[in-house]
Amino acid sequence: MDTNRDCGCASAFPRIEALVDGMLDPIDCAQVRGHCDRCESCSAELDIVETLTHRFRAALAEPPPPGVRETIFANLNIPTDFRTPQ
Ligand SMILES: [Zn+2]
Repeated sequence: MDTNRDCGCASAFPRIEALVDGMLDPIDCAQVRGHCDRCESCSAELDIVETLTHRFRAALAEPPPPGVRETIFANLNIPTDFRTPQ
């Protein structure tokens, strides 16, 4: 497949999240990135998805504040030893 040919919005836009998640093979990755380099709206979507993904991953890397687990289980009326984190 010719990776220099623009795949178009209809092909690139649905694959942007997969691109950011590293789920595309090198050819698909080159097609989507190549399209985003030429398309303002897909490039904007790529920026949004990359920003949100990085912020979400950073938030998940942080441990929750002390007491959050106990508060959630108390509000659900479930014993805190019901399930222990891995
Ligand atoms: Zn586009």
